[in-house]
Amino acid sequence: MDLLEYQGKQLFARHGLEVSPGKAVTTVEDAVTAAGEVGYPVVVKAQVLIGGRGKAGGVKLADNEDEAREHAGNILGMDIHGHLVRTLWIEHASDIATEYYASVLLDRSAKAPLVMFSIEGGVDIEEVAEQTPEKLIRHHVDALKGLSREEAVRIATEGKADADVIEGVADALVALYEVWIKEDATLAEINPLIVTPQRQVKALDAKVSLDGNALYRHPENQDLSDTENEDPIEVRAREQGVQYVKLDGDIGILGNGAGLVMSTLDVVAQAGGKPANFLDAGGGSDAAKIKQAVELILENEAVKAVLFNIFGGITRCDEVAKGLIAAFGEIQPDVPFVVRLDGTNDVAGRELLKEASLPNVHPARTMNEAAELVVELAAKSGAPA
Ligand code: GDP
Ligand code: MN
Repeated sequence: MDLLEYQGKQLFARHGLEVSPGKAVTTVEDAVTAAGEVGYPVVVKAQVLIGGRGKAGGVKLADNEDEAREHAGNILGMDIHGHLVRTLWIEHASDIATEYYASVLLDRSAKAPLVMFSIEGGVDIEEVAEQTPEKLIRHHVDALKGLSREEAVRIATEGKADADVIEGVADALVALYEVWIKEDATLAEINPLIVTPQRQVKALDAKVSLDGNALYRHPENQDLSDTENEDPIEVRAREQGVQYVKLDGDIGILGNGAGLVMSTLDVVAQAGGKPANFLDAGGGSDAAKIKQAVELILENEAVKAVLFNIFGGITRCDEVAKGLIAAFGEIQPDVPFVVRLDGTNDVAGRELLKEASLPNVHPARTMNEAAELVVELAAKSGAPA
């Protein structure tokens, strides 16, 4: 679960990281009022779940009310890499002497938490990692002991932080590690972690992802989930208990079991197609569930063809076929479907489909055959949207 910057900063503040005072607003008038309250100069910041807001024009400094109004008006409603700006964070602007970088995440291959620090902050950290890897300090932490202050001082020193802020940076790293471990975050990142001319160390940005499976341990974090800024289809899917992730292609995908769906995405990509979604209908999918899933897939207007890839185990292929027939009875999709049924009751399932002779439904025997066919059909299918 990704958090907006201002929500991440709330968690930072909870654990003693220095952040600027600010207010989240959704209208221009509230933005101007908030700016007056936090005190000029302010920075007007788009709150979207994607980085690079500054470069996209979603972060602007304002010295007075006129500028605050102008920037708020421009940024609200802005599209930043496909994310619509509905919320602004108005923060008292900081003076910046230096921009650093800090993050904590889990390094799965090392099976340990990883703290990263660089004095090359404010920029794309992937670039630093690639071009000047020696400037990105990577330090694995003993998860049972946690990050000690001495370790944090060593990281800051090794990273060549300015001598007079080594202690401040170490404090920030310890606090960031605490955010990561105590809030059950999967990522806690600060870019930039700034040093002010007064030599204060402070988080100017926040990128925090929380582990959704651990949310039950943090009732106070439940309402941080940002359904308003999330994709509406993903929100509905979650309400229905369906695992759905929207992707940016045009081939709708449904499979049963996350592993099968993942390989279906791969096979479609190999066949030259672009999946429009990940949808795991789960085990034991019955007719009602399949109908729901078809509706979710077709809600995405980019979808030009759909691939059903079912391997029957607990899931019975005849149930899936019934679900598909029921769905077609009600929604009459205008895009082609390719259906691969294999496993438990597959013969019965295929027989049902054949009897129903649904328009625009194409059976396929193997996964590769199904992928090739669906890519071909999507290419032919006139875009419905
Ligand atoms: P991002 O572009 O989405 O990573 O958004 P950031 O919150 O990191 O802001 C982008 C850049 O805007 C930062 O790297 C800073 O250079 C600048 N910026 C953000 N807040 C302030 C501020 O309070 N004062 C000043 N002078 N610059 C700021
Ligand atoms: Mn940033």
